[in-house]
Amino acid sequence: MSLAYGRQYLAIPGPSVVPDRVLAAMHRPSPNIYEGALIDMVATLWPDLKALACTRQHVALYIGNGHAGWEAANANVFSRGDHALALITGRFGEGWAMSAEALGVRTERLDFGRAAPVDLDRVADALTADRTHRLRAVMVTHVDTASTARNDIAGLRRVLDDLKHPALLMVDSIAALGCDVMRMDDWGVDVLVGASQKGLMLPPGLAFLWFSDKARAAGRGNDLRSPYWNWEPRAFADGFYQHFCGTAPTHHLFGLREALTMLLHEEGLENVWARHAALAGAVWAAGEAWGNQGAFRLNIADPDARGHAVTAMRLSGDDGTRLRRWCEHEAGVTLGIGLGMAEPGTPAADAFFRLAHMGHVNAHMVLGALAAMDAGMEALKIERGAGALAAAAAAIAQYTPRAA
Ligand SMILES: *Cc1c(COP(=O)(O)O)cnc(C)c1O
Repeated sequence: MSLAYGRQYLAIPGPSVVPDRVLAAMHRPSPNIYEGALIDMVATLWPDLKALACTRQHVALYIGNGHAGWEAANANVFSRGDHALALITGRFGEGWAMSAEALGVRTERLDFGRAAPVDLDRVADALTADRTHRLRAVMVTHVDTASTARNDIAGLRRVLDDLKHPALLMVDSIAALGCDVMRMDDWGVDVLVGASQKGLMLPPGLAFLWFSDKARAAGRGNDLRSPYWNWEPRAFADGFYQHFCGTAPTHHLFGLREALTMLLHEEGLENVWARHAALAGAVWAAGEAWGNQGAFRLNIADPDARGHAVTAMRLSGDDGTRLRRWCEHEAGVTLGIGLGMAEPGTPAADAFFRLAHMGHVNAHMVLGALAAMDAGMEALKIERGAGALAAAAAAIAQYTPRAA
């Protein structure tokens, strides 16, 4: 017996919910890749992609997932033997550092644990110690999807500028883009990595690199750049074919057109950010109430350091896994697994789980997911604080939409 029949909500932090409109836009016969509608449509994507990242600088698009985006960023910036500083607040920061290291970049790591954002003072100390400016880049996740810690990107730029350190600021915003505020140019981001399957509401398969004039100049002549990853032809194509180094990802591009129309031209980016902040606020309100009794905790204690796209949580023992299974099989909502969160001194891996609230998600979906979690904890006799659903509803009720 199950109450899961009906529309499923895949609430894992990527791939995210794909709007029916995006699916419909992709459902078409293969287009001609030499002339016609595809070429005309793709010309409209570049300004919108720049608007999405709040940049007037450059963007390159790759057929690939987030790991491809990491490798593309590394390949355009570094040479073998270069030094970089990787700021690690969860599994994804570590993943990017490993990807650079595997290419021969000497990656110094600053690890801030699994439940806290980057500490700017420690970054300042590391940069101050680098008197010869050996570090070519600071690499950081905007929101680490494992811990769901959100880092202060503008603050990192201030630290670099205050110390007059020339390192590039490289940011993985794969989970956060289109959910959390990102102002690439205002915040002085030099390289920004994104992917299609999170806030951008598409299937996995596209990776994006936005890059500054400074990054473009700094990377010139580097020895890790191979023809496929080279961002120059992709961003400054002389002819359609060069944008993709081969056949364009035709159907993804039509889906992307629809997604960008929804985000930028219908809802509006500021409203998209506000919606994610409000939905995250409802999740945290419920989480704070559950945490008043028993083992339930939001992984990141400081609300200012929590991402707006996904929230990591924990119970104790294997209750995280039990609750995930209950929600999926009995209520039709699939929560994300905990990723690399268990450490000495923390509960076991099966205590952790995540609720994604990224992309094509609205108030009833988030309230429904929270209610399913509450029902699951009741059914599984997991002790928790009272009043979580009322607190989430109150958070939603307080939301004042902005003018479009
Ligand atoms: C999802 C994600 C990645 C990895 O993306 P893949 O498509 O799985 O390669 C990297 N960084 C962050 C922050 C992510 O959320």
